[in-house]
Amino acid sequence: MQKKEQLYEGKAKKVFATECPELLIVQYKDDATAFNGLKKGTISGKGVINNQMSNRLMAMLECSGVPTHYVQELNDRETLVKKVSIVPLEVIVRNIAAGSFAKHYGVEEGVVFDQPTIEFSYKNDALGDPLLNTSHALALKLASEEEIEIIKVYAFRVNELLKAFWKSCGVTLVDFKLEFGRLADGTIVLADEISPDTSRLWDSETGEKLDKDRFRRDLGGVEEAYAEIMHRLEAHL
Ligand code: ADP
Ligand code: UDP
Repeated sequence: MQKKEQLYEGKAKKVFATECPELLIVQYKDDATAFNGLKKGTISGKGVINNQMSNRLMAMLECSGVPTHYVQELNDRETLVKKVSIVPLEVIVRNIAAGSFAKHYGVEEGVVFDQPTIEFSYKNDALGDPLLNTSHALALKLASEEEIEIIKVYAFRVNELLKAFWKSCGVTLVDFKLEFGRLADGTIVLADEISPDTSRLWDSETGEKLDKDRFRRDLGGVEEAYAEIMHRLEAHL
């Protein structure tokens, strides 16, 4: 499938049209940002890892009944995906308190929840991706009630599948962000990416962070952590 014009350049990926109007090519960059773009940097090799990891995880989810945008990996950094109209919600599922949850609610990082939580942010960089609830999302017409229900069901299902998979790799899935989109016929599918950029992944034995928090928090060993988590995935999928 030939790459045509660039439609969009985001913080972590570029999106290209193809000769087929229903398909896009996403290209993963090594660029890294944090704190709504305030912190910028490069994580060498990240684009390759995120591309391959996201594709393998989406293929696994698809086999387990979660529809995704994934079609075919084209090369190290590029993947053919189904074009969707993105639902402008960042869907965050958490198993353990960390990051903004720990900060907002004054909970220590590492507190394990009895049940996973779900929250939504309005995907809007200019507004700083503000948190919102279901009735806000409905008021803003970001999605219908039925779509939000489907998104919640898929998000919790993805959590169960990913949690079990990462556990088999000796990794604890702390939290992650998903994006969903609508195909031309309105079907809701999982889109965007699942990677160490969008998930918190801790070594189950040592608690070592194997995700973008190493970049966000200047912990060092960023490239090594991405390589390690990819290595764990390759050994188990
Ligand atoms: P951002 O826009 O947050 O900087 P990226 O750099 O990852 O993020 O850019 C990729 C963009 O492509 C995102 O806006 C994402 O919502 C969008 N996207 C992801 N998957 C699809 C898809 N299948 N169809 C259309 N857009 C998509
Ligand atoms: N996340 C993301 N993109 C965002 C915000 C969050 O991928 O714009 C992911 C993040 O990597 C983590 C989870 O969602 O795995 C929860 O992030 P949190 O709300 O704690 O925000 P942060 O601490 O990253 O600001």
